[in-house]
Amino acid sequence: MGVIVQKFGGTSVADPQKIHNVAKAVIREKENGNDVVVVVSAMGHTTDHLIKLAKEVTSQPDSREMDMLLSTGEQVSIALLAMAIQAQGYKAVSMNGQQVGIVTECIHSRARIVDIKTEKLQKKISEGNIIVVAGFQGVTPDGEITTLGRGGSDTSAVAIAAALKADRCDIYTDVEGVYATDPRIVPNVQKAETISYEEMLELARVGANVLHPRSVETAKQFNVPLRVRSSFKLDNLGTLIIGVDNMEIYKPVAGVAADSSQIRILLSELPDIPGTAAKVFGSLAKNNISVDMIIQSLASNGTNSIAFTIDADDFDGALKVLDEVKAELKAGEVLIDKDIAKVSIVGAGMVDRPGIAADMFRSLADNNINIKMISTSEIKISCLVEKENAKNAIKALCKEFELESTESADVKGDLPDV
Ligand code: ADP
Ligand code: ASP
Ligand code: MG
Repeated sequence: MGVIVQKFGGTSVADPQKIHNVAKAVIREKENGNDVVVVVSAMGHTTDHLIKLAKEVTSQPDSREMDMLLSTGEQVSIALLAMAIQAQGYKAVSMNGQQVGIVTECIHSRARIVDIKTEKLQKKISEGNIIVVAGFQGVTPDGEITTLGRGGSDTSAVAIAAALKADRCDIYTDVEGVYATDPRIVPNVQKAETISYEEMLELARVGANVLHPRSVETAKQFNVPLRVRSSFKLDNLGTLIIGVDNMEIYKPVAGVAADSSQIRILLSELPDIPGTAAKVFGSLAKNNISVDMIIQSLASNGTNSIAFTIDADDFDGALKVLDEVKAELKAGEVLIDKDIAKVSIVGAGMVDRPGIAADMFRSLADNNINIKMISTSEIKISCLVEKENAKNAIKALCKEFELESTESADVKGDLPDV
């Protein structure tokens, strides 16, 4: 008898009928002779609606109260799913993050899990229960409710799988696995049978929101066998995320993703002296603001400019910090560009193949897409483009790197906002 952790996202539990379908999928795993822990997200677009509601009350909601509010979404779905499982004659118990013992650091809206106290969970499992856990939430050692960041239920599931040394963690969602890009943008895109943790992690970080980046990080760290599969085609095995040693051949590019949640900021006429960059980025870091791409121009007349990107959610905080930095350094202007998207290609196979970057730039040029910034890492190349060009860039890059398929993916829902 094994332990299986299943996770169902918001679209999979969007209405009572879907909750009954999830109950069937859970019971099926129980009937296979396994102990089952199932992690669920809030129903449908509940989290978006709660955020909207808060913004209608105040433009700058307090982050502690936001976590208090958002954590209610998952609490609704766990109770309903436990009821649906019980209605089929099985023992089930719902548990919120605090009851499970998902301990996090005290950073509201993007807390990291530091520990999972499994005693209570184990006890309930040993009593024959199917456990239904609220994803996305945890509790600090002081008893404060936290959330793990948008899409964080994936991370709850993988962390629980790691803590229970589960045999598998299956992430059920509204697509049939991990594709080379979002199949809602390019329906005829290849699906991966397997993908390495490293590539999946990069893809998740650069905008492939099929998995929360920290879920992949945790799976890699604790060697959790992780699968992304369809909640409406249960026999379909989807995509297995595996260790790098098990991969035989790497394609130069495994996937393409876009992230339109960033804002570009340009600081002009900064003094060209030691400590300027340390001051700018140190001040942002002190305020918990992460910076992604950075470019510093060549100095002339004793000054230079630095352009960088930050998450749009951090924009108000960053402006405050930068106004102070600007005054202190007697810098020039702070220019803002919101109409941007970062388009990235990811592939472990690009390491020893020169020319991939040039192919990417040429493909964008052939499609009349201007590049505003570039950054690279060992297995990733990112280009900042105009937001309105993001979808075309993705399509062009899928064609360029032969990621198209003759079959179309079965996709539901609206086109994503990139
Ligand atoms: P859930 O509610 O199940 O967590 P998400 O919306 O978070 O679902 O993630 C699934 C969505 O991720 C899919 O509907 C798909 O549009 C999107 N997606 C983005 N990139 C990819 C990719 N490379 N492969 C598969 N799906 C992707
Ligand atoms: N409900 C949360 C969100 O919408 C967490 C999740 O779905 O994983 O981001
Ligand atoms: Mg998700």
